[in-house]
Amino acid sequence: MKITRLRTAVVEANFDWTFVRLETDERVTGTGECFFAPGLTATLRELEPILRGEDPRNVRRLFRKLQLATSGAGMVGGLIYHAITGIEIALWDILGKWLDTPVYRLLGGKFRDKVRIYADCHAGDALESLDSVLRSRCPSWLPPDPSHKPTNFYHETTDKLIYTPEMYSRRAKEMEARGFTALKFDVDVPNPYALDLFNRCLTNREIDYMVSLVAAAREALRPETDLAIDCHWRYNVDDARRLAVECEPLCLLWLEDPVPPGNADVLKGLKSATRTPIASGENLYLFEGFRDILEQQALSVVAPDLQKVGGLSEARRIAEFAESYCVSVAPHNISSPLGTIAAVHFCAAIPNFLALEFHASDVPFWNDLIDSIPKPVIQNGFIQVPEKPGLGVTLNEDVARRYARPGEPFFE
Ligand code: MG
Repeated sequence: MKITRLRTAVVEANFDWTFVRLETDERVTGTGECFFAPGLTATLRELEPILRGEDPRNVRRLFRKLQLATSGAGMVGGLIYHAITGIEIALWDILGKWLDTPVYRLLGGKFRDKVRIYADCHAGDALESLDSVLRSRCPSWLPPDPSHKPTNFYHETTDKLIYTPEMYSRRAKEMEARGFTALKFDVDVPNPYALDLFNRCLTNREIDYMVSLVAAAREALRPETDLAIDCHWRYNVDDARRLAVECEPLCLLWLEDPVPPGNADVLKGLKSATRTPIASGENLYLFEGFRDILEQQALSVVAPDLQKVGGLSEARRIAEFAESYCVSVAPHNISSPLGTIAAVHFCAAIPNFLALEFHASDVPFWNDLIDSIPKPVIQNGFIQVPEKPGLGVTLNEDVARRYARPGEPFFE
């Protein structure tokens, strides 16, 4: 079997869901998904000559070949790995189809028949669609909204109180009623109490405000529903510690990325200073990106992103290493249902799985975008592990085309 072509398509959802398809001379095709990035589909297409003529069943060899070919453009991380990750998943899809077996079995078999999903609730409001550099947009498939103000910079400041404890409380109840057993909210939201957008400092009033948002969500939920919060690498270590300590009575599932992820010493100091579990990992790449953090026992939860970390093999290496330090894995996930199902195979196949993110509760065509799986895809907060060959699902191209990003090729 030989790879003959690589094609791409982009669906404009809350993020740009970027698909890569590999075709072979035996009519077996594989489809993977990549985490969005500027210039991603052009990068994917430039990788086609590296793959053409290769046997797609040599998954690890092709991963290494792509790594060697792009070493100068991203040896340890970056958007090159968003491309390689989608390709690697497409290779697993092909191998599974060729062997007539689901991908989870190729990863060593499953620990569970259904995978626990946690719902990202953003900042308590409805659909926000972001382009590849995080500018807010009105998606092309929605009617033009005169009240929508596109932003040029995601981390804006404001002098108004936009996000309220009431919003968090209402959203928490609504998502719990949908059957989810765990939720996550952003707390690094624009607010009138911040003094400086760039200096990583939290004011006392800002910390009080953030805790009031979290407490409102916590009080709205049943005691057995878990709650996590996310800070997107925004703060300095002392203010992050103050926030984590203030949140201790709320028994969070985790506090995610209060500080940047690159310094294991900082993370370790933070983890040891609070009873609130600290999570990170969505912006780390490859096994090497996680090794030091795990060796230093600097996190309670690791959150690799299955559309950028390097592929299913790398993710499994990370999970096995985390297991040896008794650390849980809760993959970050903002992908389409296809990318989510790729992550489901991984989550089924590792022992130390905690929960998998779902970030698209306001995308109206989520369930319609894939076929060959019972609908809704998420049932009572869980996804059944697919048993069909490969990823076990197919992209519905009619639906995908309807929501395709204007100006991008659609598997052409
Ligand atoms: Mg996050």
